[in-house]
Amino acid sequence: MAIRNIRELGDDILRKKCREVKEMTPRLEELIHDMYDTMYEAQGVGLAAPQVGILKRIVVIDVDGTPYTMINPKILETRDEQSGSEGCLSVPGKAGIVKRPNYVKAEAWNEKMERYEVEGEGLLARAICHELDHLDGVMYVDLVEGDLYEVGAADDEDEE
Ligand code: ZN
Repeated sequence: MAIRNIRELGDDILRKKCREVKEMTPRLEELIHDMYDTMYEAQGVGLAAPQVGILKRIVVIDVDGTPYTMINPKILETRDEQSGSEGCLSVPGKAGIVKRPNYVKAEAWNEKMERYEVEGEGLLARAICHELDHLDGVMYVDLVEGDLYEVGAADDEDEE
């Protein structure tokens, strides 16, 4: 178990496009374990590999106790719209209003490189969109409506 350093807005690596994963390796397995440790430690609901400095198409998400490891993820279908508060572990202490689809269907590969599909609504749909954006160097601050606002330490805002 290891906690990795989370890169913050302004770090160039967050703006780069990530590469596809061709095969699972012990190094990548370790990376994925560390990504979960780092996300849970930071009380986030999602984390993308570039946030820990690795330009690979890997994200981990856990919004409600069900963890999803998404390798080479791709959105297949979106429906409806939600507008709500969003934060990011790479933008600590801030949040902003972002419009996202309220329903998302995506495909991804798990740690065994088996393809699966996930359907999410509400926060899960938001987290999938947010994390997948990271893989193409897109940050929620690019999409925010209005200004970012401060969230206090006592606030239990979900951060991705
Ligand atoms: Zn984020």
